[in-house]
Amino acid sequence: MADTIRDTVILGSGCAGLTAAIYAARANLKPLVLEGHEPGGQLSITTLVENFPGWPEGIQGPQLIENMKQQAARFGAEYRMGHLAAADLSKRPFALKVGAETIHTRTLIIASGASARWLGLPSEQALIGHGVSSCATCDGFFFSGKEIAVVGGGDSAMEEALFLTRFATKVTLLHRRDHFRASRIMLERAMAHPSIQFRTNTIVEEVLGVDQKDVTGLKLRDTVTGVEEVLGVSGLFLGIGHIPNAKMFEGQIDLDEDGYIKTTNYVFTRVQGVYACGDVQDRRYRQAVTAAGTGCMAALEVEKYLEEHGH
Ligand code: NAP
Repeated sequence: MADTIRDTVILGSGCAGLTAAIYAARANLKPLVLEGHEPGGQLSITTLVENFPGWPEGIQGPQLIENMKQQAARFGAEYRMGHLAAADLSKRPFALKVGAETIHTRTLIIASGASARWLGLPSEQALIGHGVSSCATCDGFFFSGKEIAVVGGGDSAMEEALFLTRFATKVTLLHRRDHFRASRIMLERAMAHPSIQFRTNTIVEEVLGVDQKDVTGLKLRDTVTGVEEVLGVSGLFLGIGHIPNAKMFEGQIDLDEDGYIKTTNYVFTRVQGVYACGDVQDRRYRQAVTAAGTGCMAALEVEKYLEEHGH
């Protein structure tokens, strides 16, 4: 098995990776999908997905992922648990180290996604999907008529807070400092909004509601005065950034200053035969449907590359 050269290996089993797998499998390339640290990607931690075309009533994120997985398996995609420990893209075939095994492949599709940055509190982790979310466009709708909080001081937090005013009656924006990374325009827009209240120099110490399995409030601490208090909210959104899962390719393909893979023509990296799709190369749209779109493009490019190289 170790001596077999694969036509293509797909890193990541979120929306981008699985769409690439459907296309590559239908092209008879027998793709191997390495499921990675967070099998199913970000969709697997959301609840109802209402903006993926074709599901008029919406579909649960984990179900959507499961459907894609089965769809690709039907055409011959293989799945393997585990993640990439190291990759050598300087030789052909490429060598991928996974556990004790080295996998050789002619092409590689990097769909390793981006992971939301979390505060890291145990109570926060326990309530993800039960009032704690890192995706306003995914989950904002569930907070219609409720009061919620957003954490962060960058553009993502401002964007989330503004978006969430469509649903929530009040949005409290909590930032750990009193200076903001957000662009002036976004900050001013959020500050001017009548439903958004700012609280600076404030950190979340605990998310309340673990026993009830639903967020009931936040224990906050003022970092200047040290005063603690409880803010009653039904939801907590994290807008503290995403971390693209591309660090293992540093030095082999180009990454931008925040670690996203730089691509040209949507999915091309600087190494021929290596393509990137989905959130690992997309800091702008970060939607399931756009990830699926670039996953499709990556698989089509793999097919073209293999054909051009006589495989
Ligand atoms: P960001 O600019 O890095 O901001 C992250 C924010 O989260 C910072 O305010 C940071 O606080 C805070 N933070 C990080 N870790 C924290 C923690 N553990 N606890 C509490 N707060 C924490 O990230 P971003 O807002 O996601 O933006 C990333 C990039 O995408 C930026 O270049 C941004 O301009 C761009 N973007 C643009 C738009 C738009 O133009 N519409 C929308 C979204 C994102 P500190 O400031 O104290 O470090």
